[in-house]
Amino acid sequence: MTEKKAIIESGWNFDNSYTRLPKSFFTRLDPTPVRSPKLIILNDLLATSLGLNVQALQSNDGVAVLAGIQIPEGALPLAQAYAGHQFGHFTVLGDGRALLLGEQITPLGERVDIQLKGSGKTPYSRRGDGRAALGPMLREYIISEAMHALGIATTRSLAVVTTGESVFRETEQPGAILTRVAASHLRVGTFQYVSKWGTFEDLRALADYALQRHFPEIYAVESRYLYLLQEVIKRQAVLIAKWQLVGFIHGVMNTDNMTISGETIDYGPCAFMDTYDPATVFSSIDINGRYAYSNQPYIAAWNLARFAETLLPLLHVDEAQAFKLAEDAISDFTELYHRNWLAGMRAKLGIFNEELQDESLIEGLLSMMQKYRADYTNTFRTLTFDKPEDTVLFGTTEYAQWHELWQARLGRQQEEKAASHQLMKNSNPALIPRNHRVEDALEAMVKQGDYSVMERLLDVLSSPYVHSPEQADYSSLPSLSNRPYQTYCGT
Ligand code: AMP
Ligand code: MG
Repeated sequence: MTEKKAIIESGWNFDNSYTRLPKSFFTRLDPTPVRSPKLIILNDLLATSLGLNVQALQSNDGVAVLAGIQIPEGALPLAQAYAGHQFGHFTVLGDGRALLLGEQITPLGERVDIQLKGSGKTPYSRRGDGRAALGPMLREYIISEAMHALGIATTRSLAVVTTGESVFRETEQPGAILTRVAASHLRVGTFQYVSKWGTFEDLRALADYALQRHFPEIYAVESRYLYLLQEVIKRQAVLIAKWQLVGFIHGVMNTDNMTISGETIDYGPCAFMDTYDPATVFSSIDINGRYAYSNQPYIAAWNLARFAETLLPLLHVDEAQAFKLAEDAISDFTELYHRNWLAGMRAKLGIFNEELQDESLIEGLLSMMQKYRADYTNTFRTLTFDKPEDTVLFGTTEYAQWHELWQARLGRQQEEKAASHQLMKNSNPALIPRNHRVEDALEAMVKQGDYSVMERLLDVLSSPYVHSPEQADYSSLPSLSNRPYQTYCGT
């Protein structure tokens, strides 16, 4: 079998619309070859849905593609240019260790980016080595796939390969490459880059591209750039509400890590909250708590305001009017976010209809959870099954009073108890990727080459709303020695 034939049989079916954008938006570049690639994990279901052949991907030629040694036919690898506000400071960035191979056109006709992360230096690498370590790439794999299973829009993980080379962070670690799949890699930072250094035509080309790719239905609308802004705001309002509802903390919500598609991107120092505390921060570098759990909606609005600023020249010829349109759109975010969050919280409590006091019922629960340091996920799971567990919260008179109010509230809707219970089961995950469980899986894999722990974890995380007996074991809390949990950016 010739090399070429094997690659074609893999099912790669690339188009490269990004290369047809102005040349300043990217740099064409091939991945830096690696010594001896080895496939660590392949997402069979995702591969199949993309029209890829699992066996071909597992072959030497298939792995060579995932390692950046072979370029599949039709791919035109490139590094994207972008900028971004990092912790509030504007910087030029760009793919410093990632390359877009191209856009895979799936059997259903969808277009998704295929990106290799950790594929070598690019003109945007600054002082970085262009590489990634195995632990953090597997961590991205686990958490992004868990997010997907939780019903949250996210980039996906197709595969992780080791490179046979070491990378040096605090310690020497095995090098790895993650294949990331995304609706696109357009970020708020992409618009910031073009707005700062491109021409008006460049900006319009980027906005039109984003519209065609993510909002084709409004491409033909006359005020389409205002729609673009409004639609991105809507998607982010849905996304951030979903993060809050499951207790996900992104950790590094810089504008370059906010997508136009509304997918969660860039799993660096992210983690899920155990104990309910709105001030929770995991990232070691977030000393001021800028990206704390309770700040995420405000930061999202701040990032979207940066996005709106880039669009001003497209919104209206008159600057003052453009500004007013942008301002109105941004001020809608808070309301939209809140509406999504409230709807999600009602569902978590089995509530179908709307009452004005619902918010105070929810706040009552949350403030008790905070006071008694209750576990976020397990509290809602306990409410779902009405089996108070051994936590401080459930023994208190406050809880008894709240429970009475809640039961009375459920009584004021038409739906039967069983329907409420089902709604709660669908809205409260049995489990989340607990930090200590993720660490155990990574340690077994990276230190002992034992994949079984990660395999079991991925399996239970793949259906979080099933509430099966096997999952019970995964909802136990970390031991005190594992707290407080800290995450690091040096990936
Ligand atoms: P992140 O914190 O992952 O959003 O990355 C911020 C910027 O740093 C992006 O431009 C990345 O491409 C770049 N970067 C992160 N790690 C590396 C690395 N090891 N080598 C080169 N660039 C990197
Ligand atoms: Mg990033």
